[in-house]
Amino acid sequence: TVIYHSEVNMSTERTFSILKPNAVAKNVIGSIYSRFENAGFTIVAAKMLHLSRELAAGFYAEHDGKPFFDGLLDFMTSGPVVVQVLESENAVQRYRDLMGATNPANALAGTLRADYADSMTANAVHGSDSAASAAREIAYFFSDDEICPRVG
Ligand code: UDP
Repeated sequence: TVIYHSEVNMSTERTFSILKPNAVAKNVIGSIYSRFENAGFTIVAAKMLHLSRELAAGFYAEHDGKPFFDGLLDFMTSGPVVVQVLESENAVQRYRDLMGATNPANALAGTLRADYADSMTANAVHGSDSAASAAREIAYFFSDDEICPRVG
């Protein structure tokens, strides 16, 4: 019997992640990538870039008008970021759990934000909050040919 790839990976999901400027500035890209891999995620796309204000504003459009919006854009454009697509079973929820709460004061011990966040705004990492957000956010930063499905 031939078992097709799609049948053995029916619950595989992708989520979108950003290492925010404070994480890159701290020189912990590799440490956080190890955390992704140790938690069972496969990195299937990745790149470093310095966000323009326009790109950051489009990404965070749902927060436009909120009191923290301008400060968030100041922070997100303050230095380079690393963006990646993570794949695993139930990736959206599993990555939210790995990140911890938005406010690092509430982030559980052992989460990325507990370990690397400096403030509510400079909270080290971003992760999609739903499968629909993940699809939008992945497409916002990556073309289809920049995503490299795992081989083997
Ligand atoms: N943020 C902030 N102040 C707030 C709420 C959010 O600076 O009061 C920033 C923070 O960097 C957060 C991002 O805006 O990660 C997006 O907020 P969201 O509520 O979507 O949190 P997340 O999904 O990133 O945990």
